Amino acid sequence: MRILFLFLDGIGLGLADPAINPFIATHMPYLQQLLGGQRLVAEAAPLHNQRACLLSLDATLGVAGTPQSATGQATLLTGQNVPAIFGHHYGPKPDPEVAEFLLNGNLFSTLIKMGKNVGFLNAYPPRYFETIDSGRRMYSAIPLAVTSSGIRLKTIDDLRAGRAISADFTGGGWLENLGIPDTPVLGPFQAGKRLAELATEVDFSLFEYWLSDYAGHRQAFREAQALLETFDQILGGLLATWDDQEGLILISSDHGNLEDLSTRHHTLNPVPALIIGADGLRKEFTTNLKSIADISPAILQFFATPG
Ligand SMILES: [Zn+2]
Repeated sequence: MRILFLFLDGIGLGLADPAINPFIATHMPYLQQLLGGQRLVAEAAPLHNQRACLLSLDATLGVAGTPQSATGQATLLTGQNVPAIFGHHYGPKPDPEVAEFLLNGNLFSTLIKMGKNVGFLNAYPPRYFETIDSGRRMYSAIPLAVTSSGIRLKTIDDLRAGRAISADFTGGGWLENLGIPDTPVLGPFQAGKRLAELATEVDFSLFEYWLSDYAGHRQAFREAQALLETFDQILGGLLATWDDQEGLILISSDHGNLEDLSTRHHTLNPVPALIIGADGLRKEFTTNLKSIADISPAILQFFATPG
C-alpha cells in the first residue's frame, strides 16, 4: 500500500467564474472526467465517486491574514497548526522558528522511523545546489524537511536516468529556460506515467509543484491556462498507470492563489484534497480531513493500519 502526494502550491477551490478562475476557463478533460464532469471549484466539493473524492480543506487554520507557504507547508508536514502556534501566517520560506519546528520531526522523518520507504521525486538543477551551498538561497519548507530527514535531493543525473521529475514535470523548462543541454524532455502524459512509476517504487512519495503559485502571483491568465492544460495531461498519464488497489494519490495545496486571478495575493479560499484510489482505501483516509493540519495524521494513520 502506498501514497503519492502531489503537492500543488497555491491552488484553492474558488468561484465558478471564468473571468477570474482558470480552472473554469481551461479545458481539462482528464480532471473533469475524474470529477464526474465537474470542475475543480468550491461548489464541486464534497464529491465522492467510483474513483475519487474531492474534499474542501480549510487553509486559514483559524488565524487572521492570508495563509503563506512556510507555515502552511510546515502544517502539512507536521500535522500541527503552525500558524496558530506562532500566531501568524508566514512565508514564503521558513524563518528560523518555523525551520526549527520542521527539523524537530516531520512526515518524512516519522515515516522513515516507521520503517517506510520514502521518496521525494523532484529533481533540482545544478544552480540550485550552488546557491544553497553558497548561502544565497534558503531551503523552502519541503526540501528542508526532506534533507533534515536524511533524504538526498535528486539531481540532474537522477533526471537523466529517469529517477526524478523536474519542477515543470516535463523537463522543457530546464532545456529552454535554464539552458541545460541533454535534458530529457517528456511529453506531459509521459511525465504523468513516470510519476506513477516512480511512486510505485516506494511506500510514500511526494512531488512539489510550485509554478502554480508563481503564475498566481503574476496574475498570468494565459500562463495559468497553459500550466493547467499540462497538468491535465500529467493527470491523464498518472491515472492511466496508477493501480487503485495498491494505494492513494493525494492532490492538495497549502493555500489558494491561482484560482482567483483578480488578485496577485494568496486567497482565503479552502484548498482541495483530491483523493484517488480504491473506495475502501479512501474511506478511512478521508474520515477526519477538515483542514490542511489533518493531512499528515491521515497519512500516518494509513501506514499504521495493518493490511
Ligand atoms: Zn505564494
